[in-house]
Amino acid sequence: MAESAFDVVVIGSGPGGYVAAIRAAQLGLKTACIEKRETLGGTCLNIGCIPSKALLQSSEIFEEARHGMAVHGVRTGQVELDLPAMMTQKAKVVDANTAGIVFLFKKNKVEWIKGTGRITGQGRIEVALNAGGTQALTARHIVIATGSDSMPLAGVAVDERSIVSSTGALELSSVPKRLIVIGGGYIGLEMGSVWQRLGSQVTVVEFLDRILPGMDGEISKHMQRILQKQGMSFRLATRVTGAAPGNDGVTVGVEPAGGGPAESLAADIVLLAIGRRPYTSGLGLEDAKVALDERGRIKTDSRFATNVPGIYAIGDAIAGPMLAHKAEDEGVALAEIIAGQAGHVNYEAIPGVVYTWPEVAAVGKSEEQLKAEGIAYKSGKFPFTANGRARAMATTDGFVKLLADAASDRILGAHILGPNAGDLIAEVVVGMEFGAAAEDIARTSHAHPTLNEAVKEAALAVAGRAIHI
Ligand SMILES: Cc1cc2nc3c(=O)[nH]c(=O)nc-3n(C[C@H](O)[C@H](O)[C@H](O)COP(=O)(O)OP(=O)(O)OC[C@H]3O[C@@H](n4cnc5c(N)ncnc54)[C@H](O)[C@@H]3O)c2cc1C
Repeated sequence: MAESAFDVVVIGSGPGGYVAAIRAAQLGLKTACIEKRETLGGTCLNIGCIPSKALLQSSEIFEEARHGMAVHGVRTGQVELDLPAMMTQKAKVVDANTAGIVFLFKKNKVEWIKGTGRITGQGRIEVALNAGGTQALTARHIVIATGSDSMPLAGVAVDERSIVSSTGALELSSVPKRLIVIGGGYIGLEMGSVWQRLGSQVTVVEFLDRILPGMDGEISKHMQRILQKQGMSFRLATRVTGAAPGNDGVTVGVEPAGGGPAESLAADIVLLAIGRRPYTSGLGLEDAKVALDERGRIKTDSRFATNVPGIYAIGDAIAGPMLAHKAEDEGVALAEIIAGQAGHVNYEAIPGVVYTWPEVAAVGKSEEQLKAEGIAYKSGKFPFTANGRARAMATTDGFVKLLADAASDRILGAHILGPNAGDLIAEVVVGMEFGAAAEDIARTSHAHPTLNEAVKEAALAVAGRAIHI
């Protein structure tokens, strides 16, 4: 079997892997990327960020056409859902994005090897080719970027028909009358929002006593209220004990998380969305003696190196938030480190966004974290009800909250609940990268009338001098 030799071989073509491969190639390294899926782009482009955002966008337009236009003086006739057309639009968006990576690989001369990669020794990989047969590769540097898959739950067997993971929830052929979402994290709330807008009665069952665990507590309480107003129901502090598909839908067993009487809930479709776990099976990590941590994540040092020389890992397969941009940033940093440059990721300034309506966005520390760490902080808050642009858009739910160090005024965190929060957070992220104080944002000119003015006003509020409230 002829061997192909590379400087860098990346296993997995998600946002971590494809970005690492492109950056390595840009830096003059001979690079290949192995992908077992038929298309490039990993979870994110095929069954994650991109298709979910396509459905969120389309369902938002449907919702707006039905309920959001009259206030602007726009009368619509009867608004009808064409679900197959919505799904076709989603598929087109996915195709355009995955095809984009094919183009970028060609442009940068990254070789795409279609198959399943397995590490067979130091610097050696064997690929079981999708087309049949095997191909042996050698590489000075092997990058594992195999991502994650959805977390299972005992007693809830995903069949992708009546009990679905997020993948199945992106493909439903009709709108379920009753949808039970197990898990109140961002994937559950996003997919729940899609189907709720399209007509489902959605109940979110969450083990903890709050939704969006990890996000600022005040934001998560407000978000729950807004989603309830939109028609979503919540069963918090509730444990799911099992789900049984029958002739008339699925019966979901629940009981209070702290113990108590059991109950049954009825659903047409159940979405299991309790989190994701690293995906490393079949990679040959045991034989290669690559160490994992207690949660099955590949252990790496601050330069993404595993315990085995020449083998690195990035993205969802290692520790840290399971987010596409975190994986991308790690891909760039690692390629630069391999090329002898000083790649670096600032984990203090990675934003997280929930693409519900309104959106939730956060960066840095929450108030709970600051309190737990004993850090003295000041908080500045500004509601969208007092923002001219939000009023014109008729979407005034939510607020911006900025947290700054009590002594130095340096920004420690920002939490936004409101229209386009995912875009608004970017200026705070840039500020944090530059070590900005709240005063810096407060003194920066913000165009009027924009939603961004709410960020500026929150920064002013940190010093108790907001103008418009
Ligand atoms: C429904 C949903 C919505 C999401 N929305 C967002 C969002 O809005 N924003 C955000 O930041 N994140 C979002 N995420 C998370 C995001 O998708 C992940 O954080 C991101 O894809 C991780 O990138 P990665 O490169 O580490 O791995 P992945 O994207 O998981 O890619 C890994 C790739 O490796 C391939 N692979 C695995 N093993 C092998 C092997 N042995 N040989 C060859 N190929 C292999 C897999 O086929 C896969 O294509 C979402 C996830 C889901 C499920």
